[in-house]
Amino acid sequence: MLRKFITAAAIAPFIAGAGLAQELSELEVREIHDRIFTLDTHVDIPSGYATHTLDPNTWTRLQVDLPKMRAGGLDAAFFIVYVQQRDLTGEGYATARARAEQTYQAIMRMVRANPERIALATTADEVEAIHAEGRLVALIGIENSYFMGENIEEEVPLWAARGARYAALTHFRNNQFGGSSNPDLSAGDPMGDPGLTDLGRRLVELLNDHGIMVDISHVGPQTSLEAIQMSRAPVIASHSGARAVYDHPRNLTDELLEAIRDNGGVAQMVAFRSYLRAIDPGLTAAIAELRSEFGLDQPGGWERSTPESRAAYQERVAALRAEYPDATVSDLADHIDHAVSVAGIDHVGIVSDFDGGGGVRGWDDASETPNVTAELLRRGYSEEDIAKLWGGNVLRVMRGAEAAVR
Ligand SMILES: [Zn+2]
Repeated sequence: MLRKFITAAAIAPFIAGAGLAQELSELEVREIHDRIFTLDTHVDIPSGYATHTLDPNTWTRLQVDLPKMRAGGLDAAFFIVYVQQRDLTGEGYATARARAEQTYQAIMRMVRANPERIALATTADEVEAIHAEGRLVALIGIENSYFMGENIEEEVPLWAARGARYAALTHFRNNQFGGSSNPDLSAGDPMGDPGLTDLGRRLVELLNDHGIMVDISHVGPQTSLEAIQMSRAPVIASHSGARAVYDHPRNLTDELLEAIRDNGGVAQMVAFRSYLRAIDPGLTAAIAELRSEFGLDQPGGWERSTPESRAAYQERVAALRAEYPDATVSDLADHIDHAVSVAGIDHVGIVSDFDGGGGVRGWDDASETPNVTAELLRRGYSEEDIAKLWGGNVLRVMRGAEAAVR
């Protein structure tokens, strides 16, 4: 089922191959897309995932589930163990650690319940083997290593054994490892990024030792540079944009893009509206009003709402987005173009941040994934280049991380 798949007329004319101008039909785009291995490096999962209330083997309200991955030819995804940053106290760590455990178990429930459809990969070779069998591929990424507390000597090996293949040092707010791209001054974070702490340095060493890619998305610029400089393995920025295209603290400066290139790493350009371009404040206000009208701004609001009210809400959001200028697949491609011009085609990739705030017009759930390939073809990227952007580069970086294990 190709829901909302872009029409050939909307994407023509395509430029494909070595400067050959060529019009491609929707079917031809789909054929190219299906030949390419596609890996999305950041997909969040909500509470209640893979329970009777939210079965990822059905067409759900989520932007990513197994039917949408199939429909959109999205072959693989990093599912994310995310925890919110809390205070640097034993209680804060324990609360976050419990949350991380729940999320990890939810990912494993999804994998175990659907062994014919999807499998967990813990190495780049496993990714390729599972894909070759015709199954979808699940990987695990950690967003905010905060939950490990100060117990990283035990936690890093444990999560490596569980198959986690990247770990972001921080999230919003600084933590015990270093500075955030978005420090919270009201919570006492200093104005500038203080860089890696001693514990942060040890974390980078341990991640290298255990084959987990160091993720610098959400990490402050100084902390990122220090982590890249000391990492023995290539690093990943799992979901960020290019700061030269849109000046947002979550985006990577050209200096950081160059550092990632020199380190052999990869910068994944994210389809997150508010990182790609300025969003009309009228739209932000209208959506906030809608959320409150539907009671979705309250804790547990989604869980309490009915399928009918959720559908009505999503329809109203779509109508609002159509009223205002929205970020599109073309805005995402602008960030990809810039990152490629600075870091080179071997050091850039594509990521959605679906179910964590990501999505743009044209790529607003996994079923619409061919639209990204269509836009890259239109801009003159070859199939070989698009394959690098869609996962080839990440697999190379994973292999680099595996080779650094000791
Ligand atoms: Zn994030």
